[in-house]
Amino acid sequence: MDIRITKAETLKDKVDDAHLGFGQYYTDHMFIMPYDEGQGWHDAQIVPYAPFTLDPAAMVFHYAQECFEGMKAYRTPKGGVQLFRPERNARRMNSTHRRLCIPEIPEEDFVDAVKQLVALERSWVPHSPDTSLYIRPTTIATEPHLGVKPSNSYLFFIICSPVGPYYAEGLDPIKIYVEDELTRAAPGGTGFTKAGGNYAVSLAGQVKAQQLGYSQVLWLDAVHRKYVEEVGSMNCFFKVDGTIYTAPAGGTVLPGITRASCMELLADWGYPVKEEALAIDSLMAAADDGRLEEVFGTGTAAVISPVGELRYKDKSVIIHKGEIGEVTARLYATLTGIQWGTLPDEKGWIVPVD
Ligand SMILES: *Cc1c(COP(=O)(O)O)cnc(C)c1O
Repeated sequence: MDIRITKAETLKDKVDDAHLGFGQYYTDHMFIMPYDEGQGWHDAQIVPYAPFTLDPAAMVFHYAQECFEGMKAYRTPKGGVQLFRPERNARRMNSTHRRLCIPEIPEEDFVDAVKQLVALERSWVPHSPDTSLYIRPTTIATEPHLGVKPSNSYLFFIICSPVGPYYAEGLDPIKIYVEDELTRAAPGGTGFTKAGGNYAVSLAGQVKAQQLGYSQVLWLDAVHRKYVEEVGSMNCFFKVDGTIYTAPAGGTVLPGITRASCMELLADWGYPVKEEALAIDSLMAAADDGRLEEVFGTGTAAVISPVGELRYKDKSVIIHKGEIGEVTARLYATLTGIQWGTLPDEKGWIVPVD
């Protein structure tokens, strides 16, 4: 794709790797590409990072026709920069676009835009262990219009943020609150998409869990409040009696790229893996009998998060003595090894940036 590049005249100071946090600092440039009816996506550019000017009537502000993706660029031991399965993010962005009546972006253009932006910003990809450059492709509806209908203009943009390890305290198991009242996604809705609205509706549950001393919410299905779906912005896996379960993705559950990669690795290692709706009651009973062996969340931001405690209604159970399990640890080591280039990429998951 032809991208016109305007470089920033002054560059920002880099941030010390130890103080990066998550999503607090942004690089010098961003990618932008508008869509207009009759023209399609046009005028792809990389420009200095700066605020947008938008009409207050822009439809994104009123009807939330908006979505995003989340991916990372990783620094390899030899100083190279690489992406992990970026074509999957391109495909998922389009599946979200279709659900939200936003015109699709050619997948090769999406990946090319990410590569060209990251190549220009390569000095922002941090070097310390477990740090990376988080990449946030986003689409917003820009037409100024107050009638409810699909917008006739959009802006697709990509920004980058150097990030530290997701959990500052290290890979300590997290405590999870099982939400039995509020729900995140219903059948026929948008649970399988990265639509911004999904996260707005999840905040009340997240705040409630944090007030009770839990770091994340495990959502139950919206119809029966019975089957476990996913955790915050992570998919969730449960090892019960040697079998590894995760909720089916596609409808109410986000089809995570980390999730798909874990399922593939687990199958290669000979574990039985089942995409199956698991009832919270049977999980709590399995925990009581000592059959709930490991629980972990998966997602680009944190890669793998071991879960050490589950609280459902008035009862809480400790998993694997509150310590990280063997399968969880092996997945973490393997995936992070491939992503940061310390292990060979036998799966063809890695795309070098230049
Ligand atoms: C992004 C996301 C995930 C994880 O997807 P990855 O592709 O693995 O990063 C899981 N659940 C939700 C709700 C998400 O938004």
